[in-house]
Amino acid sequence: MKRVKLENDMSSKQQMKWQDLAASLRLDGRMWIAGEKTVARREETFDCISPIDGKVLCQVARGRAEDVDLAVSVARSVFEKKRWAGQPPSARKKVMQRWSELLLEHRDELALLETLDMGKPINNSLVFDVPGAAHCLAWYGEAIDKMYDEIAPTAKSALAMIRREPVGVVGAIVPWNYPMMLSAWKLGPAIAAGNSVVLKPSERSPLTALRLAELAALAGIPAGVLNIVPGYGTEAGEALAMHPGVDAIAFTGSTVTGRRIIECSSKSNLKRVHNELGGKSANIVFADCSDLDRAAKVAAYSIFFNQGESCNAPSRLLLEEDIADLFIEKLLKEVPKYAPGHPLGNTAMGALVDERHLEMVLGYIERGISAGATCLTGGRRALEETGGCYLEPTIFDRVDNSMELAQKEIFGPVLSIIRFKGEEQAVQVANHSSYGLHAGVWSDDLNKALRVAGKLQAGTIHVNSYNDDDMTVPFGGYKQSGNGRDKSLHAFDNYTELKTIWVGLKQ
Ligand code: NAD
Repeated sequence: MKRVKLENDMSSKQQMKWQDLAASLRLDGRMWIAGEKTVARREETFDCISPIDGKVLCQVARGRAEDVDLAVSVARSVFEKKRWAGQPPSARKKVMQRWSELLLEHRDELALLETLDMGKPINNSLVFDVPGAAHCLAWYGEAIDKMYDEIAPTAKSALAMIRREPVGVVGAIVPWNYPMMLSAWKLGPAIAAGNSVVLKPSERSPLTALRLAELAALAGIPAGVLNIVPGYGTEAGEALAMHPGVDAIAFTGSTVTGRRIIECSSKSNLKRVHNELGGKSANIVFADCSDLDRAAKVAAYSIFFNQGESCNAPSRLLLEEDIADLFIEKLLKEVPKYAPGHPLGNTAMGALVDERHLEMVLGYIERGISAGATCLTGGRRALEETGGCYLEPTIFDRVDNSMELAQKEIFGPVLSIIRFKGEEQAVQVANHSSYGLHAGVWSDDLNKALRVAGKLQAGTIHVNSYNDDDMTVPFGGYKQSGNGRDKSLHAFDNYTELKTIWVGLKQ
């Protein structure tokens, strides 16, 4: 009892410290074009609302087609003048590393902006989002002077050089669930490769992208290499995807929008499109997994982390019938750890991104109950008196894989348990999805686990784990979870053209 009180005291002290810091922040929602803060051409703005308490944080510029036009023409001009790509690799590397250091020097401020804007716990923003974004920029900066071009092993009568060149102007469009990190996943390789970028953050979480751009300028990235145009998807986003001056779109977001972006590309200049889309990942626990305690802890953590707003969250838990009841008992013991709380305090679960999203998730829950699934825990809005968007961690049992609960990406703290018998059925159920982002397999029989991993249609398979992650490893999906890969050296493929130069040689 005493310990709980102590933790609560610490939590409220922590909350007060962050609230004081929040009160001292000067929020500026203007666009960032050509190295300057600028208002939208039409001088329109929209409210940036915190899901923590429903209060307006600041006004953010509402970019439209004419603002995108300006940003793209600035980006193009800087690219053509080779202000960035023309600098020696070692110089560009230093600038990117300084940019990364600046993120860490502004860690508290960036973490706070991220949490206020989209509701994730401050402890996660501090430990995960800011250092993760900083590491990504440093990693790609480091790669700049480690990448070599190639000479092909052709006959000696000629020389074939294969060079990588930047594509030119990249349009990056990102979502709200990891705003800073996903921006870094695009900006790191795109800028390291020598491109100019116009980034459109989500209208639900525009603040950290704007600060990242200011820090890039402080680090020495030339004006116009990175431009940020906040605004709505159907306005600024679509204008960027349609723009004839954009050479590539790097998109992360929903499958519906990814489809629209491909349409925009086909209706304009056939710009290349790299899509990182939704998921409905299956986490399969076989009866021969001896460490069910750990498997249950990881299953709960992975679905409830970031309020379930993670593309790779294992939202379908496939339990082999023999251990299903025992596993559920263990899983339910984990749930109280994820009781929603004020994101500036010491909580593991913060607020969902906004009212519209909360309503959407509640709709899935309601329809899941009507469809006959058993709601074991949660299912209700929480802390409504705060004015914030909180939801209880929710687990459904007896879900059939054909139900909406198993097929749609709910993107909230909602877990669907599907029971199965035997390896063949597990694979069949896991693969029966339009998505293919991640999957998990838990078994003491490594041969079986690897056999199953080989059959699963997903970009990443975790065996006896779920959250292993490293910048050296590609991230992306099969099927309607997207194409191309973020992270690792493979990401350069999204942002570079391969050029072959043949030289005829005298014999
Ligand atoms: P979303 O598709 O609604 O929006 C993503 C971005 O696209 C936003 O900036 C939005 O303004 C913009 N947009 C919307 N309509 C557009 C249009 N017509 N033209 C151009 N741009 C448009 O997605 P969201 O709700 O912000 O994010 C959640 C989704 O992102 C989930 O589906 C999640 O799985 C996915 N996601 C995928 C990954 C991955 O790596 N695969 C990572 C994180 C999130």
